[in-house]
Amino acid sequence: MGRVLTDYHLHLRPDEPDTPPERYFTAENVERYCEAAAAAGIEELGVSEHVYRFTQALELWRHPFWEEQARDDLDAYCEFVRRAGLKLGVECDFVPGAEDRTANLLEAREFDYVVGSVHFVGEAAVDHEGWDVWEGRGDADEVWRRYFEALAECARSGLFDILAHPDLVKVWGRARPLPERDPRHYYEPAVEAIAESGIAVEISTAGLRKPVGELYPSRAFAEMCVEAGAAFALSSDAHLPEQVGFGYERAIELLAELEVGEISVFERRQRSLAPLPAGVGENR
Ligand SMILES: [Zn+2]
Ligand SMILES: [Zn+2]
Repeated sequence: MGRVLTDYHLHLRPDEPDTPPERYFTAENVERYCEAAAAAGIEELGVSEHVYRFTQALELWRHPFWEEQARDDLDAYCEFVRRAGLKLGVECDFVPGAEDRTANLLEAREFDYVVGSVHFVGEAAVDHEGWDVWEGRGDADEVWRRYFEALAECARSGLFDILAHPDLVKVWGRARPLPERDPRHYYEPAVEAIAESGIAVEISTAGLRKPVGELYPSRAFAEMCVEAGAAFALSSDAHLPEQVGFGYERAIELLAELEVGEISVFERRQRSLAPLPAGVGENR
């Protein structure tokens, strides 16, 4: 395969109420994403809508937030993305205890890849003000420990191809408590699970748009992944066309510094590694 840039973790609409598929799952909207990708030199484009926006997700979890969000039909979405000629993905939360039901939901559809994510620890979310894990609980070390344990379980479940925004717990930056221990202490079990499972680690530029203002994952986390022999995937987690490929120069710089010269490309859940564009990952 030739040299390639990917953007696989994409949403065709914002995470907001009143974003019905008939307005966003349209040829015109896809065209805007494709134009943005072409302008950014991205050849491999795929969509990974949040699983919890589909009614079928209620088979996995009946959290009140999911009950409120689950409106659309997953199969209609799959059909739309296929017809649009984009890679077909889905962003699926790891729901502890629902592994078999998650496998059934995913295996019943012909995804090119599945992005696995952890947004919740227990009933509360690390990145969502409505269900804020930080409310009434100040112990950052405890939150980080639980978050990375969940991330490790997510990787080890074998349900997913790409591990999304691996240190999402830092999303608020200094606006929320930070752990006292060296974060590498918390990364460790997750990196071990990544190495064992072979899941691809997402380099996501979404963190650059968030209060933390950094890539996911941190450089230290990425270094530990390199040491463990992990493969990487590259995405923006765009929710708007203008966010496609956002901040890629930073991601590419990090990959080059880590001497990672290849990224993961998927088709029907088979991974291959493709070389990044010239200059990336070569010794400088
Ligand atoms: Zn996410
Ligand atoms: Zn996402």
